[in-house]
Amino acid sequence: MNLILLEPGDFPEAGPSGEAGAPAVATLRERRFQHIAEVHRANVGDTLKVGLLDGQIGEGLVVERSDTHITLEVSLHRAPPPPLPLTLILALPRPKMLKRTIQHATALGVKKLYLINAYRVEKSYWQSPWLAEGKLREQCVLGLEQAVDTAMPQIELRKRFKPFVEDELPEIAAGSRKLVAHPVTDTPCPVDIPDQTTLAVGPEGGFIPYEVERLQEAGFESVHLGPRILRVETALPVLLARLFPGR
Ligand code: SAH
Repeated sequence: MNLILLEPGDFPEAGPSGEAGAPAVATLRERRFQHIAEVHRANVGDTLKVGLLDGQIGEGLVVERSDTHITLEVSLHRAPPPPLPLTLILALPRPKMLKRTIQHATALGVKKLYLINAYRVEKSYWQSPWLAEGKLREQCVLGLEQAVDTAMPQIELRKRFKPFVEDELPEIAAGSRKLVAHPVTDTPCPVDIPDQTTLAVGPEGGFIPYEVERLQEAGFESVHLGPRILRVETALPVLLARLFPGR
């Protein structure tokens, strides 16, 4: 946890921006308290890096610590890192990989993500309890805390490939550079592109030719990452590091 992510509900008195002149005071219990106590081992007088969900980043001065909670005096003064200029279209990975992929995508700066169906996505994956909104959010929080970011990604689920690609995707991807990561193509993935981008990544078994054709009809260009086939959770960081190095 490189950043303690605070939410408006953590500020029992005034809001995080507080009344003029009044320091904003946040009280944390349970997971964040335990982490601060056991990993940071922070005591009264120490400062921690904090950020307000969808808000600014700053410091939290520990003003009180008990066995169950910690109280921070919070001052926020800088913006989170800019989002990647990207909409990610990801075929739903199996549950275990989904958790990690959402965390990594969030830590890498993805702010717009569509989890979609594809022929090689097993139907049972859509029943996963990890797809519940609260559970996806938990993974995003872990990614934001890791990356020192505060902007919560927006995740949408689309259980039908064809209507999504034909009816919705053209508008979602309008005006952006459209790429589909696909090992079977001669075009290498471009490096350091300035454009707003829509990137599609396939399921573990890959997109089937029909799906690649539909994406191509929607203006998507197939790009590869070299001769090695990577797992989705590896392909994603490699793609993002290549498209948007250092961003
Ligand atoms: N058996 C599948 C591989 C799927 S890998 C096939 O041969 O198509 C899962 C997804 O990760 C792919 O759909 C693609 O989006 C991405 N990926 C993995 N390795 C890649 C590579 N070398 N080039 C481009 N995309 C890759």
